[in-house]
Amino acid sequence: MDLALIDRVAAAYDGKLSPQDRSCLNLCRALWGVMSRAGAQASTLMQRDAAQAPALDELMADLEEGLPFMSNHPISVDATALADVVELLLSVVSDSGAYDKSVCQAMRALNLRQLIMLSDLDLASVDPEQYLNSIVAVMQNYGIDGSQITILVGLLSMGLRALQEPAAAAMVAALPQDALDEHRHDHCPVCGGRPALAILTRNKEGQGSGRKLACLQCGSIWDFDRIRCPHCGNKQVDKLGYRTVKGYPDHRIDYCDVCGNYIRTAVVETRNSPYSIDVEDCVMASLDAYADESQREEDRSTTA
Ligand SMILES: [Zn+2]
Ligand SMILES: [Zn+2]
Repeated sequence: MDLALIDRVAAAYDGKLSPQDRSCLNLCRALWGVMSRAGAQASTLMQRDAAQAPALDELMADLEEGLPFMSNHPISVDATALADVVELLLSVVSDSGAYDKSVCQAMRALNLRQLIMLSDLDLASVDPEQYLNSIVAVMQNYGIDGSQITILVGLLSMGLRALQEPAAAAMVAALPQDALDEHRHDHCPVCGGRPALAILTRNKEGQGSGRKLACLQCGSIWDFDRIRCPHCGNKQVDKLGYRTVKGYPDHRIDYCDVCGNYIRTAVVETRNSPYSIDVEDCVMASLDAYADESQREEDRSTTA
């Protein structure tokens, strides 16, 4: 987590956010602080283990074949380390007052380490997104209530990212420049996760026609086609559109009429300041509420 970048980008939103989005950003900032500290520790351990880094030709072969790096080069996670970071994240969430007190108390009474020991941590090392899906059943068997499961899965996702991101970033850093961009994968080339958001950026020539996808599970960003649905691959312009929402001049919902899915998109190409995938994701969190298919016809516009 690049907290310096996050703070610079967050400061540029001063005075531009609704009170609700501002308090969401404040809570996220506190969580990112915890993730950053946990990541720094994971990074120190990883440097001691540098001999285990995958060879460049193996990573290039994975990219060519469309295999996420982690599927061939697991990033293992220690149950205690994960439980510790999730405990810290949970205490931030509880103290924020954003969730019901009794729900927070119930979550804090759980034995998170035991819960994590019951889950398939080997799966987390090769496919974090699948792991997070699989731990839902573990929590249900444990008798945890649905509203707590949603929060806990979110915190586990953050905890995993904190511990795995240094090794994931090291694999990307080992690649030749732009190598991650050339194949235009619709899933994260590093962890295999689905992209959480898209970013419309300037392209390499400085023109406003580039598009990137971002994975919040490992923090990776890579190039993708400007006109193509990341969910189904549809490239028909008349079946792709976007919806803008009042109060969000820099963000929109890009949708596809073929598969019915959408992706929240940050339009940063006209900005002269940097962007952060974490800050953009957080400030447009509420756009999901506007993504309903039934609302699309009225403001149909073509993607460009
Ligand atoms: Zn990823
Ligand atoms: Zn689609």
